[in-house]
Amino acid sequence: MEIKKNQCFTVTISDISQDGAGIGKTDGYTWFIKDAVIGDMVEASAMKMKKTYGFARLCRILQPSPFRIEAKCSVARQCGGCQLQAMSYKEQLKFKERKVYNHLKRIGGLSELLLPDEELEKPDKNQREEKTYSLVMEPIIGMENPWRYRNKAQFPFGKDKNGRIVTGFYAGRTHSIIENQDCLLGAEENREILDIIKKYMEVYKVEPYCEASHTGLVRHALIRKGFTTGELMVCLVINGDSLPEAGQLVKELKKVPGMASISFNVNKEKTNVILGNKIVNLFGPGYITDYIGDVVYQISPLSFYQVNPVQTKRLYETALEYAGLTGDEIVWDLYCGIGTISLFLAQKAKKVFGVEIIPQAIQDARQNAQLNHMENTEFFVGKAEEVLPEQYEKNQIRADVIVVDPPRKGCDKVCLDTIAKMAPKRLVYVSCDSATLARDVKYLGEQGFQVKRVRCCDMFPWSGHVETVALLTRKAR
Ligand code: SAH
Repeated sequence: MEIKKNQCFTVTISDISQDGAGIGKTDGYTWFIKDAVIGDMVEASAMKMKKTYGFARLCRILQPSPFRIEAKCSVARQCGGCQLQAMSYKEQLKFKERKVYNHLKRIGGLSELLLPDEELEKPDKNQREEKTYSLVMEPIIGMENPWRYRNKAQFPFGKDKNGRIVTGFYAGRTHSIIENQDCLLGAEENREILDIIKKYMEVYKVEPYCEASHTGLVRHALIRKGFTTGELMVCLVINGDSLPEAGQLVKELKKVPGMASISFNVNKEKTNVILGNKIVNLFGPGYITDYIGDVVYQISPLSFYQVNPVQTKRLYETALEYAGLTGDEIVWDLYCGIGTISLFLAQKAKKVFGVEIIPQAIQDARQNAQLNHMENTEFFVGKAEEVLPEQYEKNQIRADVIVVDPPRKGCDKVCLDTIAKMAPKRLVYVSCDSATLARDVKYLGEQGFQVKRVRCCDMFPWSGHVETVALLTRKAR
């Protein structure tokens, strides 16, 4: 029976989409239903329909999933940040692992791959015993305490309908502010800092920015915390060149224990981009300090830095373990950002070359290398698919180990071809999108590589994202 727009129907949720919506099927037609959890039987109403799939609104949960939990955050449904707050953390981890497994199997062609949890494969058990399986995924690295893990938050400022200054988060896919000063993923100190900023704005009549009219001053507050050092950074993003009575704001913010850097950032553009290019320092050295393992970093308001430091360390440790370094290796770290993985590897390698497209990031990478006295590193600005072939063909530079950590779209073919030509002993692929990882793994398979180890790491609990590390080696000829 065909379902029409606004019609209510009953459906059981059997899967989750990339962005965390529940997926259910009626007569082979696929529905995406936000806030529905795998295992729920729900009543939904049809909203927007395409030929093979549609979107429906969750009206009522008829039978809750055994994995359903009460969302801990009171604004979980309105806020765009978390998609999986109604799903138990244990089940989330399983879901993420399964997602990567399915991609590697279906897109990557790794037919011999097994999930770490053998129980999940029960129906095939008899069949399996006849085969010899060589590739079992290593268990996903989850968090013991999956709350307050983010070291960075950007709070927009605005006014409510009564003209009161508010701050919080944009509701999913919109720019209306959901008031919330205590996101449960962020640092405890955020609340106090936001209170101080709001009070300062009220007392000194500093207006929040209004997108519609492009007037007002305070756009966002960027807050960062060094988890290992306890240092705090506040940077106000403003639609102007100066902050009135800045001294008063600094005086109050300095009372927060750990406050180490206060500044403002100038952004006068009509844009969704949060930060502008210019920083004016008000207090402190212009950066905070933090450690990942033994490597020290200076982080300024404009620096890129991983937002979950606890899991970042574990992810990098896994990459380092897969790299199997003894101290004699020449290593390439492609898509290196500010050189975080490069510096981790440099502790155990003879030489590390990093490649990254953003010049500012490479500047940070070089500075961080110096700060850590890691003279065995060298960084190139440019596209991996241009720098690597150039260095290989012109300068005959070789590689014992190559690490790649590309953006969601994965690696360029030219990059993969060059990697194949360079024939490293080990290739460590760090991925934030398992579909493109799987695509690249398949291609690398055709170029003589095979997957030896795979492990997921949960960097973003309560969201649908998952990071994966894979070790590839060359097949014996
Ligand atoms: N390894 C880093 C950053 C990974 S994010 C870390 O762990 O922190 C991916 C990085 O790839 C981004 O910094 C992005 O700017 C960069 N990038 C994107 N396309 C690229 C390309 N074609 N060549 C080199 N770097 C690229």
